[in-house]
This record gives sequence, structure tokens and C-alpha cells, in this order.
Amino acid sequence: MLNSQISNSQLPPKNQLDEVRQQFPALNQKIRDKNLVYLDSAATTLKPQCVIDRITRFYSHEAANVHRGAHYLADSATNEFENARENIRCFINAKSIEEVIFTPGTTGSINLVASSYGHFLNEGDEIVLTELEHHANIVPWQVLATQKRCVLKFIEILPNGEIDLASVEEQITSKAKIVAFSACSNILGTFTPIENIVARAKSVGAITLLDAAQYVSQKNVDVQKLGVDFFAFSSHKLFGPFGFGVLYGRKDLLNKMPVYQTGGSMIDRVECQQSTYNHLPFKFEAGTPHIAGALGTNAALDFLKQFKIEEFFNHEQNLMKMALQELQQIEEIKVFGTSENKAAIISFTMNGAHHSDIGQILDQQGIATRVGRHCTQPLFKKFNLVGTVRASISIYNNESDIAQFIEGVKKAKRMLL
Ligand code: PMP
Repeated sequence: MLNSQISNSQLPPKNQLDEVRQQFPALNQKIRDKNLVYLDSAATTLKPQCVIDRITRFYSHEAANVHRGAHYLADSATNEFENARENIRCFINAKSIEEVIFTPGTTGSINLVASSYGHFLNEGDEIVLTELEHHANIVPWQVLATQKRCVLKFIEILPNGEIDLASVEEQITSKAKIVAFSACSNILGTFTPIENIVARAKSVGAITLLDAAQYVSQKNVDVQKLGVDFFAFSSHKLFGPFGFGVLYGRKDLLNKMPVYQTGGSMIDRVECQQSTYNHLPFKFEAGTPHIAGALGTNAALDFLKQFKIEEFFNHEQNLMKMALQELQQIEEIKVFGTSENKAAIISFTMNGAHHSDIGQILDQQGIATRVGRHCTQPLFKKFNLVGTVRASISIYNNESDIAQFIEGVKKAKRMLL
């Protein structure tokens, strides 16, 4: 049992949680003879049965390519595929399906913008990121900056992992052309001040790209209210399949941007020496798309409709607070990312123990966490750290998971110190 002060009344009733858990077949298995305690949802969420069933049904019975072919299955696959696009449009509240581009994920979406919108940048222009970015939102901009002789700048973060608002003003100047930033840190959990950053970017005429990989499972999304120009996320962090994601982009920008990857589907007419291109969103979708990815994502969105996202956000927050209260009682533990405004992601070190050893001891007890630098090497350099253990909580975790995790950490301490 945990000693924590959070009362059970703040959590959804046990039967509701049990029902949620039952929908995730991965939770119903033993790992090393122990019940799985899955605390790695920031890396990827588990998949509910309805998503798995939808993908299986597609491959078993529908199994046709989209936007081509003149037969029943091809028509039906196309309808389902475009229906998924419309539901994704609703989920993010984009104005039009032309603004919803299918990509392989957040990384694919950011690369698309860096390569295509990047065409408009010139020598000396500034690209502004923050110090808490994932490599996916750093490296594409480094490549662009090198090609175009642009300057990369970083908005600083405070020791508690929050964005330094003074640095937002300092770093985003009239030379800024793109401000690309994460809505929620995958390592510290911090939610960033989207409104402030977007307002500052707009005031200097820069466009914004929001990396929403960790954000979409935490908050209701409204790209119009957020006021961002581009918005990127991956389905696999939202209970959907791997290898599928979305780029939302403002239609006027997407229309004027040059094509990115080229080939079939993205064309209108092809002659030997030249081609014209398809209209949005297909202009940016070359080749056969990840059809099962789109259908699985649609099923994940249907799955999410069962819940009020706020209720499960509170549930995750309560579990995080329980875990933090317990961890704080272990003298050797240091938690990174202590903002009040953060997702249920706990990154920590244990003084005198290596993060990989802690991860291994947890794994032996069936507890899945992630260890290392979590694709955020510049952030680790800033904090002068070689790595952390990260425990990330999702809607299917319960109090027993947290108790076992804390027991596991205590066991690691007994074994390693
Ligand atoms: N940004 C953030 C904040 C992430 O957490 C991740 C995944 N860890 C990515 C980008 C990249 O996502 P993907 O690998 O699905 O493209």
C-alpha cells in the first residue's frame, strides 16, 4: 500500500478503470511471471482491442488500395480512408480536410514542413526552437539551417522545466521566420505556454509549428483556437497504430508550399518532361498511403469518444502525484521537471545508481519504463545528466501499478546502493 495523501475518491471508480483496462489485451499478460505494469506510454500507448480489430478487419476482408481501382473493395477502402480523414479533422477542429495531411508520424510531419516551407527561408533568417525539444524537432531544422545559412535559436527553460517567458521575448525577434516547439515535453512533462509563444511569433510575422506528439492524449485539441500554422502528431501515442501521423497545416500556406515527396497519387498530369500536381491534401501524399494506419487511427478516436479527456487527465495527474509523494521520501531520488503544469511523466535519477540498472531491475519485476536520454540530448546536456529513468502514466494505469512501481524503485535502491 502507498502512504500517499491522495484519496481514492479523486480517481474514477474502480469498475470504470477495470473496464478500460480490459480493453487493452497487452495488459492481460505476464512479463517474467509478473503482471505487466506498463509505465512507458510516452514512448507509445498500448492499443485497445477495437484498434487491433479494425486493422485486422482491413487486412482480412477489405484489403484494397485507395483512390484507384474500379471495384467494390477499392471504393469501400477509399470511403473508409477519407472518412478517417474527416474524423481526424473533427478531432483537431481543422477548417477543412484539405488541411489534414497523412504522414508517417510527428517526425514525418516536421520533415515535410522543414523541407517544403523551408524553401521560403533565406540566409540570415532565424528558426527558433526551445531547449526541451525532441530530436525530431531539432535535426530537420539543423539540416535546413545548414542548407539555407539560417540561424538556429533556442528559447531557454527554467530549472523546473518550464519555458522562460523572458527568453520567449528575447529569442523571437523580427528575424524569426519559423518558431517550432513542443506543446508538452516528452521527458519533463512540462506543458509549454502555447498562447504566449504563438502571440510573440505572430507579432514578428513568424509562422509556428506545434509538436503535439505528447499533447494530443492529454488535452482537447482545437488548432483554430491554438492559432498555430502547423500541428504535428503521431497516432501511436494516441492508442492508434505505428507509422501513421498527421500534419495539420493552414490551407493558404500548404497551397503555396512546393511539393515534398513526389511520385504517384500526388500528381494531376504527368508528361515526360514535366508534371502538374494534385490538390490538397493529396499534393503532399505521394505513393500508397498507410491505409490501415488511417483506419486504426479512426478506431482509436472512436475509442476515445467513450471518455471525457479531462477526467482521465485528472486520473493520470492523481497517479503522478501519488508516485511523486512516494519518490520524494527516497532521499537518493531526484525528479526532473517539477512544474505544476505538466503531464504525468516522471523522469528521475537515483544518486549512486545508473539509470540502466534501475530500468533492468524494474523490468525484472514486469515494470516497463524507459531509460536513457529519451531523444532529447541537448536537454540532458543542459541539465548535465547522462540519463534518467522515465515512468509515464496513461488512462489504463491504476493505483496498484504505482504501488508496484514504488516497490520496484525501493528494491532497486536496496540492490544497487
Ligand atoms: N516529439 C515528441 C515530443 C515526441 O515525444 C516524439 C516521440 N517520442 C516525437 C516528436 C517523434 O514521434 P514519432 O517517432 O512518432 O515520429
